[in-house]
Amino acid sequence: MLSDVLRSRLALARGALLPCRGCLGPVGEGAEAGLCVRCWGGLRPLPEGRCPRCALVHAEADCPEATAWDHGDALWDYHGGRPPLGALLLPGIKQGETGWRRALLGRLAEAPLPDWAAQVDRVTAAPSAWPQRLLRGFDLSAEAAELIARRLDRPFEPLLAKGWLRGRQASRTESQRRRLPKGAMALRRGAAPRGLILLVDDVWTTGSLTRMSIHISGDF
Ligand SMILES: [Zn+2]
Ligand SMILES: [Zn+2]
Repeated sequence: MLSDVLRSRLALARGALLPCRGCLGPVGEGAEAGLCVRCWGGLRPLPEGRCPRCALVHAEADCPEATAWDHGDALWDYHGGRPPLGALLLPGIKQGETGWRRALLGRLAEAPLPDWAAQVDRVTAAPSAWPQRLLRGFDLSAEAAELIARRLDRPFEPLLAKGWLRGRQASRTESQRRRLPKGAMALRRGAAPRGLILLVDDVWTTGSLTRMSIHISGDF
């Protein structure tokens, strides 16, 4: 009979021998969630000179994006790499693997935050749908918001809930998707938002860009 120590060593050796899920090369040092360091490089920082409101690079002086906040920034783009990191993470997320969660939160702990984030009074999270939370067993937006709140030394307050009238994103056109549908989010019962609020979302999609984002708003 194998001892526990031997069994865990064998499991470790098996893990080291498995190829990277993304590029099928050896995973090597620093692999996370079955992806090698090179594949994790697909999590790209956003370009300099991006708009301080929608975080896209556009020629217009006035931001053409329909955003509901005063300042907005994204911490990274999920779609770098070949194949894109976002597509590599998806199967793991669907199968309930959690290595990617630790990997993303670890990067969030180090990611540079925009200067204006220091001015906020409190931090909240974009609400995720409960089937998603149930499937994953955790809520990445809320965990990311709590981490950023700790970094900024501000309170984290769960102020928002998914609205009952939420339409299905999939059935919406591109321009409909850009506008937040009426009733997509609602204030939680008893929530009293005051001051400048930093809203954190794990996924923010505009066109083909999918980002980890933070926004600031004076009111809802
Ligand atoms: Zn790889
Ligand atoms: Zn803009």
